[in-house]
Order: sequence, then structure tokens, then C-alpha cells
Amino acid sequence: MNTIIGQWQESGQRPESKDGRLLITIDGPAGVGKSTVAKKLAARLGYTYLDTGALYRGVAWKVRSSHVDPADSKQVEDLLSTTKLVLTAREQTLSVFVDAQDVTHELRSLDVSQLASTVAALPQVRQWLLPIQREFANEGGIVVEGRDMGTKVFPQADVKFFLDADPDIRISRRYRELHADDQQKNWDDLRREMTIRDDRDRSREVAPLIPAIDAMMIDTSNLSIDQVLDHLTEVVSARQ
Ligand code: C5P
Repeated sequence: MNTIIGQWQESGQRPESKDGRLLITIDGPAGVGKSTVAKKLAARLGYTYLDTGALYRGVAWKVRSSHVDPADSKQVEDLLSTTKLVLTAREQTLSVFVDAQDVTHELRSLDVSQLASTVAALPQVRQWLLPIQREFANEGGIVVEGRDMGTKVFPQADVKFFLDADPDIRISRRYRELHADDQQKNWDDLRREMTIRDDRDRSREVAPLIPAIDAMMIDTSNLSIDQVLDHLTEVVSARQ
């Protein structure tokens, strides 16, 4: 089991791959299928899976429960200085603990999604999460997914993918996912939420959602999860 703990020192160093175990990044917008593919790819390779969105959601949860103004970077920074964020990965299942409380099942709501993207635009939050993410990947053998994995957090990753898909397709995928999870959501609310979040993620000044220059771009609009997975596996195998 891997465990990461907040408030660690920033390393900024490239995680070295050990025994040919690679560091693989998958970036892309919401609803593109990143999490499913990243999780399955990690399982296929026997690698750890890290969903960095869960860390931003953990911060959002803490901001909300502390009634701090998410637009006030100083307040958020002060809050984080006394916050302990721990993420555990057992096989492909992640759990997020904020100040020792397991909040994993409270992180997927639309309001936490929105708030995560609001706090993710704050440089202080991104800086605070940077060493946590890097520390987790220190030993290689990991598939990390997020928005800035290939550009900012792991610019020296061994293999980088950027997944994208038509916005309507991404919204329907997320809609089905939420319903399968028994979270009944209104289509229009979901469309609004995802559009606002994507625009904010793509246009923020710090670490916006953009493909790394050396990322392999994959349009998943007309591909099944298995097709995407097979494609990624082929690319990774060629690099091993
Ligand atoms: O991936 P997920 O939808 O869980 O991410 C929630 C939010 O966290 C995103 O909309 C984005 O604003 C932020 N995020 C980020 N950088 C990452 C991962 C997530 O800014 N590496």
C-alpha cells in the first residue's frame, strides 16, 4: 500500500523508474474516460494508480467544511497550513483522508467538483499539492491522471497521453456514470457544471489543462474503453 501525507517537502526531482517500471501520465478534461482507463491500465501493468483530482477534491471538501471563502487565497493557504491530507492506494482503490477523516465517498458531488476546480486555480493550492503528487510517484510503476501531469507535475514522465472527446459525448458518459452510481442528476445541470469546470480548467493562469508538447493525443469519442486501453497498452509495451 502506498501512503502519501500532506506537508511534505517539495522534491521537484524526476522520479526515477526502477526495474523498468514506468511513470505514465494521462491528462484530459472531465468525462473523457481518464479514470477508468488509467485504473485499468494500472491493473494490467501491476502499477499503482493515482487520481490527482481526488486530491483537489479533498482540498475542496476541507474548504467547504471549514466555511472558508474559496476565492480568498490567503484564507485557503492558512487553512492548508494546518491540514493533513492523506491518500492511500490499495491496488486500484484510492481513499482520501482529510485530518484523519475518510472523506472518499463525499468527493464526487457536483458542488465538490465545482469547488475543486475553483480551488485548483489557486497557485497556493497547486504548490501545496505538488510534493504530495511527486512523492507518490517516487518509485515509478505508476499511472497518474489529472490535468497537468505531463506539463507541470511530471514533465519528465516516461509516457504521456492526452485524452479528449467531443463535449456531448463526455457529458453523456459522465451522466451514465453518475446514474450507475445512483446519483440522479439532471442533464442540464450536469452540462452546465461540466462546461463551467472545463472552461475554468482550460483558461486558468496556473497549470491550465493543455496537452504536453510530447504527449500522445487520443480522441476517445468513437472508441470503447477497451479500444483505448489496448491502444495505450501497445504504446507502453513498446517503451518498456
Ligand atoms: O479529475 P477530477 O474531475 O476529479 O478533478 C476535479 C478538479 O480538480 C478538476 O476539474 C480540476 O479543476 C482539478 N484538477 C486539477 N489538476 C489535476 C487534477 C484535477 O486542476 N491534476
